[in-house]
Amino acid sequence: MQADLVILGGGPAGLTAGLYASRARINVVLLEKGMPGGQMAATELVDNYPGQPDPILGFELAQRMEAQARKFGLEIQTSDITSISKTDSGFALYNEAGIAHSCNALILATGANPIKLGIPGELEFAGRGVSYCAVCDGPFFRDVEVAVIGGGDSAVEEAVYLTRFASKVHLIHRRDQLRAVKEIQEKAFAETKMTIHWNSVPEAIIGESDIKTLRIRSKLNGSVSELPVGGVFFYVGIKPADETFRGIVKSDDRGFVVTDENMATSALGIFAAGDVRVKVLRQISTAVGDGAIAAYSAQHYLESL
Ligand code: NAP
Repeated sequence: MQADLVILGGGPAGLTAGLYASRARINVVLLEKGMPGGQMAATELVDNYPGQPDPILGFELAQRMEAQARKFGLEIQTSDITSISKTDSGFALYNEAGIAHSCNALILATGANPIKLGIPGELEFAGRGVSYCAVCDGPFFRDVEVAVIGGGDSAVEEAVYLTRFASKVHLIHRRDQLRAVKEIQEKAFAETKMTIHWNSVPEAIIGESDIKTLRIRSKLNGSVSELPVGGVFFYVGIKPADETFRGIVKSDDRGFVVTDENMATSALGIFAAGDVRVKVLRQISTAVGDGAIAAYSAQHYLESL
């Protein structure tokens, strides 16, 4: 299928780029391999998105963004693109069956995925107590103790969310200060079901058919303790979803795409928006801004051809 513009990824950056491109009457298609919404849809409550004084479910905000973009004519297709190549007139996008789409301009809005820590038991118990999504799996841990690994916004926010279900939430953080924004920290400190294990790192997840314990080690004195948890949620950061275009555009040493302020990448005709690019603040609000700029820049690029 030929389009002037293809947007890869349907999180807030991609949906906003789609909204702006559709309103500009560009022949555009957005390709998403799963459900539109990205990480936003897997977030329980969003309470820092402007214009939304009451917290809104991430899933609902995703649905609203999708509906708004579709209202202006955005075509969204489910498609698992595996690679991209440059052609004489633009770009070809491939899935496992061969060329799926070709286009003159491309917006990369593939977002980011959770990093795996790689401790013993993490892989073995994946889907059987190890999770990277509290919203998806939290309700399975009603009246069970769980552990959350990390000290950033995601870890602390999701640890607070998990107190709704779990009998106790152990937050394991490798330092003596959280990285999460203060407002989220305050919620965690006020939560009676939460115990924070400072200066501690997870060492192994132990069990048989289910998880029985999480072994953690103190970084201060090396002492080891075993927490009687049935679930372990990892939030130790994110890595860009860059598999399909690695090497085509310039990226930093972690794989995040380098852009200028117009969201242009090092490859003419390719723009990037949202969490996948190098930026100081990864938020829904900043992804939305990126998406609008990327669509505007793509429009000018297409007009210049
Ligand atoms: P993050 O901000 O990179 O935090 C990762 C956390 O994991 C840090 O506390 C880090 O510890 C810890 N960590 C990293 N490697 C580790 C290891 N090997 N062992 C133990 N701990 C390790 O990642 P994130 O929380 O997933 O957030 C990703 C982005 O999304 C951020 O930009 C964040 O601000 C944004 N976000 C925003 C919101 C919101 O605004 N409500 C919600 C979620 C995410 P150190 O602190 O010691 O480095």
